[in-house]
This record gives sequence, structure tokens and C-alpha cells, in this order.
Amino acid sequence: MINLEKEFDSIKNTVKKEFELTDIAYNIWIAPLKYVSFENNVVTIMVPDEHSQILDHISKKYKVYFQSVISELLDNIVNINFVVQQEETKEENQSMPVQSQRDDDYFKAANLNKKYSFENFVVGSNNDMAQRACLAVADCVCNGNSNDEGINPLFIYGGSGLGKTHLMNSIGHYIVKNKPNKKVLYVSSEEFTNEVIESIRGGNSTVSHMTKLREKYRNIDVLLIDDIQFIIGKNSTQEEFFHTFNTLYEAGKTIVISSDKHPKEMVTLDERFRSRFQMGLITDIQPPVYETRMAILQKYVENLGRPINNDILMYIAENIKSNVRELEGAVNKVIAIGRLNPSTEMTLETAKDALKDTIFPDSNTIITPGNILDAVAEYFHIKTEDIISKKRSQDLVLPRHIFMYLCREMTDTTLKGIAIILERDHSTVKHGVDKIGDEMRTNQELKDTVEIIRKKISK
Ligand code: ADP
Ligand code: MG
Repeated sequence: MINLEKEFDSIKNTVKKEFELTDIAYNIWIAPLKYVSFENNVVTIMVPDEHSQILDHISKKYKVYFQSVISELLDNIVNINFVVQQEETKEENQSMPVQSQRDDDYFKAANLNKKYSFENFVVGSNNDMAQRACLAVADCVCNGNSNDEGINPLFIYGGSGLGKTHLMNSIGHYIVKNKPNKKVLYVSSEEFTNEVIESIRGGNSTVSHMTKLREKYRNIDVLLIDDIQFIIGKNSTQEEFFHTFNTLYEAGKTIVISSDKHPKEMVTLDERFRSRFQMGLITDIQPPVYETRMAILQKYVENLGRPINNDILMYIAENIKSNVRELEGAVNKVIAIGRLNPSTEMTLETAKDALKDTIFPDSNTIITPGNILDAVAEYFHIKTEDIISKKRSQDLVLPRHIFMYLCREMTDTTLKGIAIILERDHSTVKHGVDKIGDEMRTNQELKDTVEIIRKKISK
């Protein structure tokens, strides 16, 4: 009888080889898996706690791999079951108070906000790519080999209040918890700017303040720099950041950057930065859909430990759509008003009253082809009339196709309607719409462009 527990490392290696997994994928997803049991023809495999939120993903992706390798090994078809490591099965090697004091020191040194972690980040279709990329970066810092080419830099962009700061802190949180010897530093762009200004003002003492600042940044393993848009255009800060970026990057250190916009959309961004920001991975966070908004609210309320009726949460989720911070703010308002009348249960009516300044039930702004025209023209720095003109010049083709595509996607306008706007025939419009749709599947650059314009329109 083959002992699966003993063979498990070699099983993992076979999975890697047979399914041609990269070192990174292997180290992040496969290496941490542990064998649990083999009963009733089911092999149970344990996923580490940190990956609990993506159990589904791991399951979907790797189940068949393990099934085929193990079935072949045992010459018998087996089933695979992934479970998450339970708290009590984890080794408890440190007494809690010492551990948590030590953790606090690390969080402080890394300038991290301890309350943000992957565990309390709700994943939805709007942010799953970003969450996965962040987790991959964090895991690669903790478990990667030196010859792994991790994601570097990771660039996260998205509107205000959508979780960028939360995710960046989660990366730091994860590393501090798992590899406390790695030096992490989270810094907001304002803090960085202030430090540069201070150093310049410090003048020429024996060891110049600037040298100190550079040393501080040169000695870290992971730099998390938030809201980079604030640095752009501030000359000496920008130069200093450029220097820091290059030093860290060349030394193979990990850099994560957040911004409110895609590098392409940051008009005053220096070309040097643009190309560097695009060397790694760029990922966005979109506003959450209704279900995700509800899940975020429920988690938030759960953590506060104050029950709020679901119909109130639903009312908030229906009416606040584009900013998670505002979702939380609305809950806080409801709680505050509730405190005025602690004896009575908060009803939807009182909540509505408490929120009447916050929620102007969306005045159903309808997106028109006109809005789309404006946004496309603005993005490409061309005139709206050129898009709808008969001009055949090459640089108008793409904007026109994107216009057609977004009209179909974002408005009720029929192909015929779009054809009338553009004074072209129906088949030309259909061709344009299909072309963009098809190309977006393989052309990331085009996809980014369309997303940026779509976001402009939705605002
Ligand atoms: P940003 O930096 O993009 O402006 P933040 O990270 O500061 O946004 O997020 C604003 C608030 O919303 C924070 O309190 C954060 O914890 C919360 N938040 C955002 N996205 C999520 C999410 N997916 N799950 C849980 N909380 C979230
Ligand atoms: Mg932020």
C-alpha cells in the first residue's frame, strides 16, 4: 500500500511537472498544501488559513491535477477534497501576549494599519484580480525562491474608497505575520513628500538628511507606496522617488504602488515613470456590485458587534454604489442615531431619516450616446465631430470603434441607431462592435483603454 503522506511532496512535484506550473504558481499555491487523510476513496488536502478566501479558486484549479496524479499512483480513481486549516490545528508555539506585543512593534515599524488584512477584505468580481495579485505578491515575498520572478512592481488603481489602502496594508500585514524578518514599509505619498521636504530643509549637517532618508528606503525589502498621484508633478519629491524606485527595483526588492488612475491616464506623468510602472502588473479595483456591497456591509456590522436589520443594510447597499468608505459611513450614521434611542429597535424608517443627507436616491442618470462621444473624444484628444464625421483618417478608426462598442454596451441604442448617428451602415457598426469585443479578450492594452473610458462615462 502506498503511503500518501510520505509521497505527498513527490505528488506535488509531479503535479508541477506534468501540468507545467511555473515556480511562482507552485510556490504560492501548491507548496503550502498539506496531506490530511485518505478515507473512503477521498484524499483530503489542507490549504493554509491565509488562503481560506480563495479555497474555491484553488479547488477549481488544482483538484483535477491532484486527482489525476494520485489516481494514477494508486491505480484507482480517487476524489479530492480541499479543506482550510483549522485554528486549533495550527502550532501554538508562542504565548499570545508576547506574540501580540511583538506583532504590534512590527506593525508600527512598518507603518501599517493593523486593522486591514486579507481576512477582512471582501472579495467580489470588482476586486478579485487585485486581491489575488496582492496575495501573490505577499506570498512570493514570504515563500518565493530567489530565482522567482515575482510581480514587480504591482500597480493598483481605482477610485476613492474602493479598498486600495486596505489591500496594500493587507500585503504588509501578511508579511509581518508570516515573515517578520522581512522589512516592510508602507508610506502614503504625503508622508513621503513631507520626508523629502524635511530632508531638504535639514540642509548640510555632517551626514546629510537626504543621505539618511535614502538609507532608510534603501534598507527595506518591500515598499508599499500609496496614492502616487500626489507625488507626480512635485519635482524634487518625484526625483527622489525615482531614485528610490530604481534602487529598490535593481536590488530585486518588491514595490507596490497605488494610484487613482491607470498610468496611461495620468497626463502629467513622466515617461520614465510610465514605463517603469508598466514593467510589472497593473490591476484595477472597480466599484462593487450590489451583492458585494451587501457582503461588505454584513462583514462590517459583524465586526462592530452591533446588529443592524438586514432591510436597513439593503437600503444602504441599494443607494450607495461607488464608494465603500461611504457605505461604512452610512452604517456609522445609523448606529449613531440609534444611540439616541437605545430602547427602541432601529427601523428602516428611522434609518432612512438618519441617512437623508447621505442618500439622494440616485436620480437615475441615463447614459446617452452623447456622454460616450464626449468621453471617447476626451480620452483620445480629438473632437467629437471628427468621430461622427465621414473622415477616414487612420487615427479616428479606433475611437470610432470604441464609441460603437460602448454605445452597445452602455446604452439601449440599437446597431441601427448607432449607424444613424455615424451615418454609416448597419454592417459597418456591427463589424466595429464585434472587433472591439473580440480584441479585448486578448489585447490587454485595448481592454485598459476601454475600461478607462467606461469609467469616465459612469462618473
Ligand atoms: P482607498 O484607499 O481605495 O481610497 P480604502 O482602502 O481606504 O480605499 O477603503 C475605504 C474603506 O472601505 C476602508 O475602511 C476599507 O476597509 C473598506 N473596504 C474597501 N473595500 C473593502 C472590501 N472589499 N472589503 C472590506 N472592506 C473594504
Ligand atoms: Mg487610500
